[in-house]
Amino acid sequence: MAAKEPFVVIAHRGASGYLPEHTLEAKALAYGMGADYLEQDVVLTRDNVPVVLHDIHLDTISDVATKFPERARDNGRYYAIDFDLAEIRQLTASERFHQKTGKPVYPGRFPIRTGAFHIPTLAEEIEFIQGLNKSTGRTVGIYPELKQPAFHHNEGKDISTAVLKVLADHGYRSKADACYLQCFDAKENRRIREELGCQLKMVQLLNKEDWLTAADSAARERQLQKLAEFADAIGPNLSVLFKRNDAGQIVPTDVTELAHRHGLALHPWTLRADDVVQPFESFEQMHDAVLTAGIDGAFSDFPDQTLRLMGRAIRE
Ligand code: CA
Repeated sequence: MAAKEPFVVIAHRGASGYLPEHTLEAKALAYGMGADYLEQDVVLTRDNVPVVLHDIHLDTISDVATKFPERARDNGRYYAIDFDLAEIRQLTASERFHQKTGKPVYPGRFPIRTGAFHIPTLAEEIEFIQGLNKSTGRTVGIYPELKQPAFHHNEGKDISTAVLKVLADHGYRSKADACYLQCFDAKENRRIREELGCQLKMVQLLNKEDWLTAADSAARERQLQKLAEFADAIGPNLSVLFKRNDAGQIVPTDVTELAHRHGLALHPWTLRADDVVQPFESFEQMHDAVLTAGIDGAFSDFPDQTLRLMGRAIRE
């Protein structure tokens, strides 16, 4: 039961509150800050290489529109799957900006379109983290997310098989390994477990719109029970785990208790000091609620602050 483990701090896209998401620089900073796990979002290139990138698009975190102006699809977007790795290596990565306006998504963060950042492959990033594990003697884990497997299938690609191979090649094969594999697609998660024979710790991600907000507690429990057939943890939006009661106090919904009842740990997202979500009023309040509710871990853009607020020491 993961509920007995110390609170797990997952650096969301690295220390993305301070450096451009998914750059090795952001991962190094999160590592140095003491995160337990570093997150990788993964998509495939045209030549089937898993790269670490949050979106299936390249245009909101790189200069692709300047370097390859003729390569947008009809909708104006630039897809990683339309580029070979050799082309993606030519791009400079940036702090995230809005596709239409070009303005920063988080104005208080690292300035956009500055720095010499790059998009790493999944293998490069794992070797970077494993190298740090060797030189520091710590065991910081990886936390890869398969992005949009259905999109990849439609494009004739099997992202799950490609990513599992990279993970196995680097020694991540069983639940004892410091790796959680995450995905929003429950059908794909079941396939990964039952058809592809994956034995890693697996996380079912859940959007706010998913069934967790259904009024019927018994229905929610049945769904959680089904997820527990293949998943070890759920990764819900933090706001579905809490609500305000009639007196205006923040209290847990029943999701945490129901998930724990079926052996599912909870790793909600996302703790952001510069984007506090409902029903919370402050970053500190979010951490207090998570701590009080006995939640098992969380994704944070600010892993240093999350470690401090959760009273956590750096794990060796
Ligand atoms: Ca993610």
